[in-house]
Amino acid sequence: MFKSEYLNRVYAGVEARNPGEKEFLQAVYEVLESLEPVVEANPRLEENGILERIVEPERQIFFRVPWVDDNGKVHVNRGFRVQFNSAIGPYKGGIRLHPSVNASVIKFLGFEQIFKNSLTSLPIGGGKGGSDFDPKGKSDMEVMRFCQSFMTELSKHIGADTDVPAGDIGTGAREIGFMYGQYKRLRNEFTGVLTGKGLTYGGSLARKEATGFGLCYFVEEMLNCMKNDSFKGKTVVVSGSGNVAIYANQKATELGGKVIAMSDSNGYIVDKNGINLDVVKQIKEVERGRIKEYVNRVKGAEYFEGCSGIWTVKCDVALPCATQNEINEESAKALIKNGVIAVGEGANMPSTPEAVAAFQNAGVLFAPAKAANAGGVATSALEMSQNSMRYSWTFSEVDAKLKTIMVNIFHNAYNAAEKYGKKGNLVAGANIAGFEKVADAMLAQGVAY
Ligand code: NDP
Repeated sequence: MFKSEYLNRVYAGVEARNPGEKEFLQAVYEVLESLEPVVEANPRLEENGILERIVEPERQIFFRVPWVDDNGKVHVNRGFRVQFNSAIGPYKGGIRLHPSVNASVIKFLGFEQIFKNSLTSLPIGGGKGGSDFDPKGKSDMEVMRFCQSFMTELSKHIGADTDVPAGDIGTGAREIGFMYGQYKRLRNEFTGVLTGKGLTYGGSLARKEATGFGLCYFVEEMLNCMKNDSFKGKTVVVSGSGNVAIYANQKATELGGKVIAMSDSNGYIVDKNGINLDVVKQIKEVERGRIKEYVNRVKGAEYFEGCSGIWTVKCDVALPCATQNEINEESAKALIKNGVIAVGEGANMPSTPEAVAAFQNAGVLFAPAKAANAGGVATSALEMSQNSMRYSWTFSEVDAKLKTIMVNIFHNAYNAAEKYGKKGNLVAGANIAGFEKVADAMLAQGVAY
């Protein structure tokens, strides 16, 4: 429990109101823990009920998503959109399509998004959405019918100045395209209501690459400033083989690292010569296949069943880019034993609290998701700007802005941690830096908000 009576009261309220929502409670606990010194130093936060307000979503929408499969059978999924906080801009956050999606998962992601979006320094609030629909194994037409049904309801609640969803696990270019088409049909408007759009209809160059690239820009800056080091010559392990993982691999390689392992939800591959990313892209982006296919195409590579074993592969830098809680204490200890020097979270909350503590106690540089993977949403905000201007920037213009944003996020998190006596603790620093701006805006806007 916390030292502060105020924090204990707020957390008890969250537990009582959201029973059994373990991911959401985990995310709230971690943020409150970081805010302890901030709350102590600023009594106005308690006087104005800022924490009670920030842990309660402004609006939650749960809805039925009926759709018809290729054999004419009707299915029903559940859709979610949690509009968590709009103090500094329109709600912004991805749509996750995965069977594990439930209220707890969407609320944890929406809550984290508030602080992450604030850290980007761009005017975007926090939200998240999704469905327990599984696009895996569905035909393109089935995915299209699902997306159209999902958007038929969602369109009533979003808008370019209200709430701008984006991709996430299971929602890539194909799904965004189907959803955007349906929104346009229903509203007769061509606006920047979704980000991650295709380049022919309002998408931003470098959006696809942004989360993975941004992660590596952050880790490079962290290595440089905290260890006078870089990716050059480092062995890197990247979990996942989706959007974030693929582009993290690409940038880590460009910066001089060698990525030797990647995974999917069935197992992982190890290629001591360095993963051939073109082969991974062909399997995962083009064929929507399984990562184990890699060993049939690249000589000398090995495949292992199961996901967590990837953390036993010896590396200098670990980039978890698959899903939440994929590194537990045991995996963290295996990485530490093998000499890992830095961990950068590409996925959202991929390390359990015990794993984070293990890294920090062992002196491993640790880049938390909220800060390190903010490049995706930052570039989404740049896509919104381009849509508003009806203009588009070049790849290198967007990439340069992304890099500047990531470097600034590192320094803001680092400085915030130092200011509150937690030097080098980027988990606390990211939470504090993200929180201060949102809290300030909430204070300025009065209690009805
Ligand atoms: P994708 O759906 O493109 O890829 C997810 C990858 O993770 C797939 O390779 C998937 O394998 C794998 N995976 C899923 N579950 C597990 C599991 N339990 N164990 C191991 N591997 C698993 O998603 P993204 O790359 O977009 O997202 C990955 C993470 O990054 C998520 O946490 C997301 O919230 C976060 N993120 C994404 C952003 C973005 O811009 N896309 C922005 C910020 C954060 P399989 O192919 O078998 O499904």
